[in-house]
Amino acid sequence: MSLNKEQKDELRAMLENLCKETAAQAKLLEVSSRPVSLEESIGRLSRMDAINQQNMNLARFESTKQRLVMLEAALARLDKEAYGMCILCKEPISWARLTAKPEAGACIKCAKK
Ligand SMILES: [Zn+2]
Repeated sequence: MSLNKEQKDELRAMLENLCKETAAQAKLLEVSSRPVSLEESIGRLSRMDAINQQNMNLARFESTKQRLVMLEAALARLDKEAYGMCILCKEPISWARLTAKPEAGACIKCAKK
């Protein structure tokens, strides 16, 4: 199955939205993953909790940034023949998978390996 123009337009809109959302999310996470300052009064949260929370946010920030790179790469790839084809087995990626995860580079079978 190769993608028609309507399908590509749909995926492009989806990717553009996801890029925006993911960039906004990364910005928020970047702020909340800053090191806990010693002077900062953290109310009911203990310092350990604050540090754990910060580490969690940092991990989420890293994975959000990574996703943004994938989304941008997928947008750049969208008009090329390679988009929608599995990078591993070269078979077309299903429409269901592309709409669920438009930045996917591999089909569901290969992704599960
Ligand atoms: Zn595959």
